[in-house]
Amino acid sequence: MTFNELNIAEPILRAIAEKGYTHPTPIQEKAIPVLLRGEDLLGCAQTGTGKTAAFAIPIIQQLYLDEFRVKTHRKIKALVVTPTRELAIQIQENFTEYGKYTDLRNTVIFGGVKQGKQTASLRQGVDILVATPGRLLDLISQGFITLKHIEYFVLDEADQMLDMGFVHDIKKLINLLPTKRQSLFFSATMPKSIIDLSGKILGNPERITVKPEQATAEKVDQAVYFVAKENKPNLLAHVILSEKAESTLVFSRTKHGADKIVRRLAKDKITAEAIHGNKSQNQRQKALGNFKDGKTKVLIATDIAARGIDVSELSLVVNYDLPNVPETYVHRIGRTGRAKASGIALSFCDVEERPYLRDIEKLINQKLPVISDHPYVDDSKEEVGKKPEPQAKKKPQQARKPGSTGNKSVWRRNKPKPKS
Ligand code: AMP
Repeated sequence: MTFNELNIAEPILRAIAEKGYTHPTPIQEKAIPVLLRGEDLLGCAQTGTGKTAAFAIPIIQQLYLDEFRVKTHRKIKALVVTPTRELAIQIQENFTEYGKYTDLRNTVIFGGVKQGKQTASLRQGVDILVATPGRLLDLISQGFITLKHIEYFVLDEADQMLDMGFVHDIKKLINLLPTKRQSLFFSATMPKSIIDLSGKILGNPERITVKPEQATAEKVDQAVYFVAKENKPNLLAHVILSEKAESTLVFSRTKHGADKIVRRLAKDKITAEAIHGNKSQNQRQKALGNFKDGKTKVLIATDIAARGIDVSELSLVVNYDLPNVPETYVHRIGRTGRAKASGIALSFCDVEERPYLRDIEKLINQKLPVISDHPYVDDSKEEVGKKPEPQAKKKPQQARKPGSTGNKSVWRRNKPKPKS
């Protein structure tokens, strides 16, 4: 199927073509016709599936074709609420790109920065607003925003929203929305709490599920290194130096850990930056910008901060810590191997993380190949039912000089054949 067959208006088609999109992704193919018919939508999909365009294109189109839309005193007709600043900015950028040949205006608001620029932009009048919940409620209470004219409401990353404790904010917002509206609700996972919340927002929605898990996992070359916890920093430096990837995203479980990794890599003259919740908005944007532009080749991120990262052609993802929620693994590795690109995802697994590895392998339905040709192999056996030996007691293996296994990527040299 092509975008032409989805009855998309010419100015939007032109903008999409300029973005280089030739075919709609599965969620776009399913969601766009439903949304153009004005129906509500419950989408089980995560970042990386093309879901932003799936909701942005129909909203832009409906607003663009609305002949009663007043252009002199613009009213906010479409509201997208998303949990993080990075996601909010990215969504707004997408609205701007897809709507560049329409006369629609949009803006984005989020917390952690002064509100002056945001209120100035609101004062000029916008049709589409992208917001994080806290700042949105704040500006509503100050009288800068009214939701009275909303016709299109999108709640994005609902599960993340609940995890971050936004449930009361969301409920407050729902009460401020006009009852007659089109509502779209997206979540990567659909536990009961999310289904309950969606029931408060949606009328009789069309339900669309896209499962990028399997597809993503299949597209990405994955492997695991068994390594003692205390050797992870050395292994990371070793992997980065030998992989020589154009761009590497490293996931750290903790904010403190992310900063520590940056300092450790600096010892090997590897320039890395960290993004996490303790960094200011400006620092995060700057680090992300440097990474996107290729100025920094290594970015260390926590899961929450990484939700908004959309870097095309990200070549390597390193799971420095394995996540205890297996879906998070799929989320993380989905950062690479986007669109048609194939990527590499390497995971570091210490003895205590072996149960996490088993859960991940169960979810993706494949066994991850183990890379054993590296200087920091940890072959300690996991003792089922027993507390693992304290890591500190183990003698770290002699560190080889970084990169001493030669110039070639360890991954490419030793790429194990995945078992079918
Ligand atoms: P999202 O899931 O909205 O975060 O989108 C993931 C990535 O896919 C973004 O970089 C989009 O620019 C890109 N994308 C969205 N739709 C398409 C498409 N139809 N063809 C190619 N890339 C796309």
